[in-house]
Amino acid sequence: MATVSQRGPEGYLATERGVIRKPAAGRIRVALVYPNVYHVGMSNLGFQTVYRLLNDIEHVACERAFLPEQDGGKNRRVLTVESRTPIEDFDIIAFSISYENDAPAILTILESARLPLPAAQRGATLPLVLAGGVFCFLNPEPLAPFIDLFLLGEAESLIGAFFQTFDPTADRRNNLLRLARDVPGVYAPGFYRPRHHPDGRLSAVDTLADVPDTIQRVMEPDLSRLPTASTILTPETTFDDTYLIEVSRGCPHGCRFCSAGYVYRPPRYRPFALLDHQVDDGCALTDRIGLVGAAVSDLPGIRELCGKERGREVRFSFSSLRADALDGPLVEALAASHVKTATIAPDAGSERMRRVINKGISEDHVVAAADILVGAGIPNLKVYFMIGLPTETDDDIAAIVDLVKRIKHRFLKTSRGRGRMGEITVSLSAFVPKPSTPFQWAAMDEVKRLKQKIKQVKTGLKKTANVRVHADIPRWAYLQGLIARGDRRVADILLTAHANRGNWPQTFKATSINPHFYVHRERDPDEIFPWDIIDQGIDKAYLLKEYQRALAGRTSAPCPADPSSCSICGVCTGESGATVDSCE
Ligand code: SF4
Repeated sequence: MATVSQRGPEGYLATERGVIRKPAAGRIRVALVYPNVYHVGMSNLGFQTVYRLLNDIEHVACERAFLPEQDGGKNRRVLTVESRTPIEDFDIIAFSISYENDAPAILTILESARLPLPAAQRGATLPLVLAGGVFCFLNPEPLAPFIDLFLLGEAESLIGAFFQTFDPTADRRNNLLRLARDVPGVYAPGFYRPRHHPDGRLSAVDTLADVPDTIQRVMEPDLSRLPTASTILTPETTFDDTYLIEVSRGCPHGCRFCSAGYVYRPPRYRPFALLDHQVDDGCALTDRIGLVGAAVSDLPGIRELCGKERGREVRFSFSSLRADALDGPLVEALAASHVKTATIAPDAGSERMRRVINKGISEDHVVAAADILVGAGIPNLKVYFMIGLPTETDDDIAAIVDLVKRIKHRFLKTSRGRGRMGEITVSLSAFVPKPSTPFQWAAMDEVKRLKQKIKQVKTGLKKTANVRVHADIPRWAYLQGLIARGDRRVADILLTAHANRGNWPQTFKATSINPHFYVHRERDPDEIFPWDIIDQGIDKAYLLKEYQRALAGRTSAPCPADPSSCSICGVCTGESGATVDSCE
C-alpha cells in the first residue's frame, strides 16, 4: 500500500498548489470534462495538467467532470466533482479527448447537459463547447459538428493565449471569429466547409470567414521550465496513488504506426535537475513515482534519477521501456519497485515485419530483455504485438508464435535458476492506421482476418504452458479506425449510434454512409485528408516516402532530436542538407 501523507475532502490529495474549489465569483467558469469515467480520467496526466493550467490563470476557475457511470441505460446529469454543479451552468465546457473510442461519449455528455448536439443550434446563452487533447490534433473532423472550437497542440502554449482573447461578454459569433483568427492553434470548424469528389474523397475545404486556411498546431519548444506532474493523487486511478511525472514528449525512434513519434516532433526531454526536484516533491507525498514518456529509457540521466538515494524507499514505474535499452540500473530500479510484471513490446513477430514498422529492435534484443527482467526477479512478462500490419502474411503471424516460444524457453531457464516460475501474457491488438503517420495511407485489416490471426496465435500457443493470450476485440479496433481517419460525414454515423444507444450493428444497417470507405481503403498518394487542415509541421512528402520505404521493407534512422542540424521531416529548420534516403 502506498504511503500518502494527507488526504483531501473526497479521498484525494491536493498538491501544494491548492487549486481545489477555487472561488468562481468574478471568474470565467470552466467545466473540464473527461469523456470517460472518473478513474480513467484521473489516470490521465494530460487531463490533470490542463486542470492545473486553467486554475493557474487568475481570472479562470476550473472544475472537473467525468462521464457518469451508466444508470440502467439512462443518462445522468454531469456534475462537477468540486461543487456538484451541472456542467451546463459553466461559461465553457472544455473536453479533454485522448482516444478515438471516447469520442461517442461526447454526444452522451452534451445530451445529459441538455445542450443541442449540433453546435450551430446552440444559442447565445449556452456555454461555449471546446475540445483539446491529442485526439483533436490528430483528426478532429468526426466531432467537428458538435464542437464550437478545438484547441490544437500542447496545452501549455495554447491556454494562456486563448484566455487572453476570450471575452465572456462578447457576442458568440464575434468571439469565435476573433479566437479563430487571432489565437494560434484555435480551429472553429463552423467557419470551414469541406467539399467532396463524387466518389466520396475530399476535394477541398472552403473557409467561410476571415480565418486561416490551415491551423498550425502549437507546440512548446522548451519544456525545461514547464514541469508536468500529478496535480491530485487519488487511489481511484489505474496507477493507485502514484505521483506521475512527465519526463519527455515525443519519441525519436520513428515507429511508423505511432502517432506520438510524429505529431510531438521534435522529441523533447526535461533536464535532470528539474526531474530530480520533482521526484523529491513526489517522495514527500507517496512512495510511488511513475515516470511518463513515449520512450522513458531514452531520457538522459534516467539511471541516476532512479538510483539516487531519497531518504525513503521509492517504487519507480515507467510508462515505456525499450527492449534494447534495458540494463542493470534500470532493471534494478524496476525490481526494487516490487513490480510483478514487466512489459516488452516487440510489436511484430518477424524481423521483416519489424523493418516494415521501423521498430529498430531485433529478436535477440527481445529475448535478452526477457532474460534480464526475469533474472532480476520480476516473475511475469507481458509481451505486446500488433496484428493486421501493412504487408503482413501468415508467416509473420507464425513468427509471433515462434518468438513467444523462444522467449518462453529463455524465461523457463532463467526462472528455474531462481526457483520460481511466472507467467507470460501475450497481448494482441489490431493495428489502426493513424493520421499524420507514414501509415495514414494504409488500409486496415478486415475484422474477419483479424479474428483468424488471433485464432492462429492462440492455437499456436495452446500447448505452451504458462503462456496466456489476450486479444483486444477487433470490432472495437474497427470503430477506432473509422473515427481515427473519418471526415465530417462520420459525425452522422456518431449521431445515429447515439440515437441507437451505442448499438453499432444497428447503426451500420441504418446509415447510408459506408464505414468501410474510411477503414479498409488504401488512400491514393495524392489524396487530400480531412486532417490536412492541421499543419503538424511534418512534410506530407516525407511521410509518403516513409510509407513507401515501409512497403519496401526499408528502415530509417531515428530522429536525431537536434533541431539545429536537421530538417529531414520538415519540423525543424536545421542546415544538414540530409534527406530521408540518407538516413538509413
Ligand atoms: S527535422 Fe530532424 S530533428 Fe527535427 S523532428 Fe524532424 S527528424 Fe527530428
